[in-house]
Amino acid sequence: MSHDRISRRSLLKGALLTLAAAPAAGMLTREAVAANPLVDPNDGQAKALSYTPDATKVDAKANPNYKPGQHCANCIQYTGKAGDAEGGCNLFPGKAVKSTGWCKVWVLKPGATLG
Ligand code: SF4
Repeated sequence: MSHDRISRRSLLKGALLTLAAAPAAGMLTREAVAANPLVDPNDGQAKALSYTPDATKVDAKANPNYKPGQHCANCIQYTGKAGDAEGGCNLFPGKAVKSTGWCKVWVLKPGATLG
């Protein structure tokens, strides 16, 4: 008898937890769908700007303006949040760049530091 009561209580609790989690799951799905695709370094504009997703691999001879410590996360054009692995860039609307990336129009974001 008491076992039946506990089972019903557990079922009810499980159903309530499922209902509570459903909207959060829906939000995650919408966010995942809304995430912008990464810029392809082989795209025309990316190539023209010498964009690379890994600033440590920039060819310093071909890009004499590059200095170690420059990357998308500390660039004035980067619109991603601090600490995010990727984010928006004003030069690539509708796309995302890696925070570790770099291109030849990099300019230090006010208040940011190299590194
Ligand atoms: Fe990265 Fe800045 Fe170039 Fe955008 S403009 S790709 S944020 S270095």
